[in-house]
Amino acid sequence: MSCALVLGSAKEKPFAESKRIGIFMHQKTSQLQYALFNNVLGLASGTTGQSILENGKAQLDELYPHVEQIEGEKVLKCSRHIEGFTIKTNKSTYQSKIVVIAVGYTNLFSIKGLEPYIEPHPRAEKEKGHIWLKNENHLIENGLYVAGTLAGWRSQFAIASGSGAQVATDILTLWNDGKHTKIHDKL
Ligand SMILES: Cc1cc2nc3c(=O)[nH]c(=O)nc-3n(C[C@H](O)[C@H](O)[C@H](O)COP(=O)(O)OP(=O)(O)OC[C@H]3O[C@@H](n4cnc5c(N)ncnc54)[C@H](O)[C@@H]3O)c2cc1C
Repeated sequence: MSCALVLGSAKEKPFAESKRIGIFMHQKTSQLQYALFNNVLGLASGTTGQSILENGKAQLDELYPHVEQIEGEKVLKCSRHIEGFTIKTNKSTYQSKIVVIAVGYTNLFSIKGLEPYIEPHPRAEKEKGHIWLKNENHLIENGLYVAGTLAGWRSQFAIASGSGAQVATDILTLWNDGKHTKIHDKL
């Protein structure tokens, strides 16, 4: 959601005008469901992960409605073709030039087509069996990004959401012909 928010916030930029952005809003297995936050800068202590799931979705919808939220679908398969990727869910099939995988670091990972990139997580307790998708600076291969704990980061909210924001700015930079890009609102 952090990645989608930053991508959405570029809507006034000419290089983003023609881009279609979508997010599978599957929240059933998010770590946020059971989390309680007291140690995240900017979040009031006692903030629940569940409220972030709900408010994040509403924020995205309210500010950046051009980011399509695809509800009630689980991604089953991601396969590469010449122009980009085919994403198969339990209900439909989509095409995209760029894909960001941010489904968490549990070994319950079940998206077919990404098996070659699965390795033991480099920054988590071995006994837990967590995984990452091997990447360099979030890039797995051309057009295929990973964000959050699945990118190999430790499980802290600020790190996971920062990772999503980083990937968004990498994609915006790509859309902006390689010119380094960030999106800031100002007073
Ligand atoms: C109990 C608990 C307490 C915590 N407390 C703190 C804390 O106090 N401070 C702190 O900083 N951090 C805390 N954390 C950690 C923090 O919640 C995580 O670091 C963060 O949520 C990880 O983000 P993520 O994007 O990697 O994964 P997630 O937040 O798990 O997001 C993954 C998303 O992918 C979706 N998904 C999974 N599979 C598919 C699929 N096949 N197709 C489509 N979507 C899919 C899931 O439904 C979910 O929405 C806590 C975590 C837990 C579990």
